[in-house]
This record gives sequence, structure tokens and C-alpha cells, in this order.
Amino acid sequence: MVEKEPREEQGRELRIRRWGKDLSASSIGPDVATFLSELAGPTWIEVPGRDRSRLRAFSTLLHGNEPSGLTALHRWLRMGAVPAVDLGLFVGAVETALAPPGFAHRFLPGRPDFNRVWRPSVETSGRDEREVRVARQLLDLLRSRPPECLVDLHNNTGQNPPYGVTFRIGVPERNLVARYAHRIIHTPIELGTIVEATCNDFPAVTIECGRSGDPQADALALVGTQRIIDADDLALDATPPLLEVVVDPVRVRVRPGIPLAFGDGPEDGEGLVMSRQVDDHNFELVPKGTCIGWVAAGTDWPVEAIGAGGIDRSFELFAVRGRRLETRREMIPVMMTTHRENALSDCLFYAAWPERQLG
Ligand SMILES: [Zn+2]
Repeated sequence: MVEKEPREEQGRELRIRRWGKDLSASSIGPDVATFLSELAGPTWIEVPGRDRSRLRAFSTLLHGNEPSGLTALHRWLRMGAVPAVDLGLFVGAVETALAPPGFAHRFLPGRPDFNRVWRPSVETSGRDEREVRVARQLLDLLRSRPPECLVDLHNNTGQNPPYGVTFRIGVPERNLVARYAHRIIHTPIELGTIVEATCNDFPAVTIECGRSGDPQADALALVGTQRIIDADDLALDATPPLLEVVVDPVRVRVRPGIPLAFGDGPEDGEGLVMSRQVDDHNFELVPKGTCIGWVAAGTDWPVEAIGAGGIDRSFELFAVRGRRLETRREMIPVMMTTHRENALSDCLFYAAWPERQLG
């Protein structure tokens, strides 16, 4: 017998699973991969809390190769604990993560990036893909019952300490990030992320937990998430702890048509070779004149660096001397990756600067 879907699920591509009704600690597979196959598609899991009048939301796996948030939620759900208030847990790119060999792709070829579909953007305009529709359905849900906060859990592919990314930076956002990390990137760059789409409705932050596959990143995701789940009062308006904040990030990408590789020196045929150790510089204040890569002879200007307002600042920030690609001024690179696919589909890194201290 085929079970009929509940009325509200008809025509809905976002699946809804309710804890205690169609999901329980004992029904959840012992490992993350089994749990993911059971979810089968983008899912919103509702867990009733001790206080049913409030809600907190988490989203994770918007990128299929970033499992720390999912791992944390899976571990927490299997504990069968009761959260302080109601929880809503969104697991996004389930099929992408399930695609062989598992947790290998940020998004599948030909599909949109699941963290670029939450606001109308150049990338999604005129597109009516499933990811765009699921995003709309989840935003409707969140706006019909606004949570106290939303935390979107991610990983990096490069060597990075944990940090938060905020589109809006106030006391609540600082307090949320502080549950996980003591660094924040404040970005005004519009990419169409879930945090951008919701940060004016309630405090919303992204947490980059560390490198994908690093057990420390998984542990950090769980510890921070439990701090939020267990607190009766999040006290988001309390004086936040002191955090290291970097601002004005500029998104550095290889220019279209320039072949990219990672290595230890210039290579013929590779327009731009970024240093294999470049991600050692993440969150470091890098002096002017630092070599970050090499260009092949005859290569056009290799990078673009787009900040707020869409202006290319690459000539102000970088210089090519001989075959060396150097920094032209002091900067703090963040999110540097040595993962070629990610560097091409997202960016090489962001260049940022310390927040000016007031007073
Ligand atoms: Zn991500």
C-alpha cells in the first residue's frame, strides 16, 4: 500500500519530518550516510522543545561537500535529547552529498549552488529550478514562524580556523558566532545566501567550522550547536565577548579563460599557478609584496577582485612582477583554498582588513 502524503506536503519539494511522529532517535540510521539516504531530499526537521512558544533554526549541507553541520545534527538527534525551545533543522543538498563517492561535490554539474538561490540574483534570475523553489518554501516557513536565530553551518576546503560570516553585524550576531568561534568576517557582498535573505528578519549567521572531513571541525559544530540548543535564554542582546573581526572582503577569482593550477612555481600552459601552501596565510596579516602565485609567460592579467558595489579592485591589490603574483598592499586573506574545483566554482579567496576599533 502506498501511503498518502499529508495534505501540506502535496506539491511541496521541501520535505517536512516531525520528531516523534515520523522520525525518532531509534529510527535514525547509525551513520551520517544512512541518515542522509533516509532523508533522500531537502528536508526540514521539526523537533519540539521544552518551551513550545519559541523556535531556533539551523541549516546545513547547503554545500554537498561540507558535512560538519550534518554530522553534528545527526549526533545530536541520536541522543534523543529535548531542546530548550522548538528546533527547525534544514538539510539542503542531500542528493549532492549522496552522489558518489559521497560528500564530494559542492553542487552537481548543471545545478545551482544551493547557497546562492535565496535572493534573486544574476545567477538565478529567470531560473525556476528545484533549489530555487525549495529556498522559497523554506523562507515562507521561516517567515510564518520567525525563529530566534538561524545558524547556517559550513566547512572550508582550505586550511582555516573556525569563523563566522555575517552579512549584518550587531550584538546578536556577535553573540551567536561566539558560541562557535572568535573570528568574524563581515561581508557586504551579495551572493544570494540564506543568511543574506533572512538577516533582516532575525539574527542569522554562517559558521565555517573548519576543514571538511576534519574531526575537529565536526566536534566544533556539535559543541557550538549544543550551546544554542540547550540554552533556555540565548541572551543575544548581552555584551558580546571580544572577537577578531575582519571587514570589507573583496572576492578574488581567477579571470575567466585563465587556466588555474596549484604548485610551487610557474608552469607553461597554466596561466595562473597559485602557491600550494597559499592557505597557510588564512587570517594572517600578509605584508605588501608577498608572493601568492605565478603567471605563465604571455598570460593576461590573471585575477579579478570584486568588492561591494561590484568594482574590480585587482590592480590596486595585486601586482605581477616578473612571473610572480604579489600582494600590492597589506591584507588578511581568508577562505584561501587549494582545492581547484572550489577555487574555480567559488573563488580563490577573500582579501579583508581588520575592523577599525572605535575610540
Ligand atoms: Zn559552504
